Amino acid sequence: MPNQPCFTKPNAELWQALQWHPSSDQLEQMITLQVLLRQWNTKVNLSRLVEGDDYWITQVFDSLWPLKCELESPQQPRHCIDVGTGGGFPGLAVAIALPGAQITLVDSVGRKTAAVTAMVATLGLTSRVMVRTERAELTGQDPSCRGMFDLAMARAVSTAPVIAEYLVPLLKPDGEALLFRGQWNTNDKQDLAKALKLLKADLIKVERRELPSNRGIRHQLRLRATLPCPATYPRRVGVPTKNPLGS
Ligand code: SAM
Repeated sequence: MPNQPCFTKPNAELWQALQWHPSSDQLEQMITLQVLLRQWNTKVNLSRLVEGDDYWITQVFDSLWPLKCELESPQQPRHCIDVGTGGGFPGLAVAIALPGAQITLVDSVGRKTAAVTAMVATLGLTSRVMVRTERAELTGQDPSCRGMFDLAMARAVSTAPVIAEYLVPLLKPDGEALLFRGQWNTNDKQDLAKALKLLKADLIKVERRELPSNRGIRHQLRLRATLPCPATYPRRVGVPTKNPLGS
């Protein structure tokens, strides 16, 4: 195995690999976020990925690499939503990197959203980051969220058909859903295709990349609506995971 650089601290090589360079304020916010995660982790189990490479690569880099296109116009006004945000990833990294964006963070676990709400306040992001303690199935049926987002994303929340059912109903007609995946294969693609047929959406992009320092393979999937999503989706709380679309 060739030697790979080790990003125990944020350094130029990390940003070079990402092809994005934070301003000094953004870097400060990323460092503050790490400190806050450490602090909140002692009270709520938010994430074990808080130190060194675990934080800078598996959290920050992994959250931002799929947004190459959006990072080229960071001031553009966008409405984004991160469903199943847990300790705030990818949503908080995206909020820091895209100063023009309004970001909604959703998670059903109140202890996590309370911690994330406090972190948002300390980071000075309250004016453009909203936190909702809610099941994604309800977010997608709420008129204040349904059809309202340019970019709807989820990382490590469920299988692709389940996530598609959470995210597609949230999209504006020209919005995109971003699914963060680890491995991705032909069977996964077939299962997702069946779900997308019912949701009236298409898979428009699959991109694979290896994280630095042998941190594993990642894929990003982008979805777009082809027609308005049928009103029946997302189905009632628990149904998408119990009976995934197309299975
Ligand atoms: N996205 C974060 C990350 O990548 O670090 C957290 C991933 S964690 C494994 C999954 C999170 O999704 C949990 O915090 C869980 O509460 C949340 N979640 C799972 N299903 C959900 C649903 N239907 N509605 C809202 N949140 C959900």
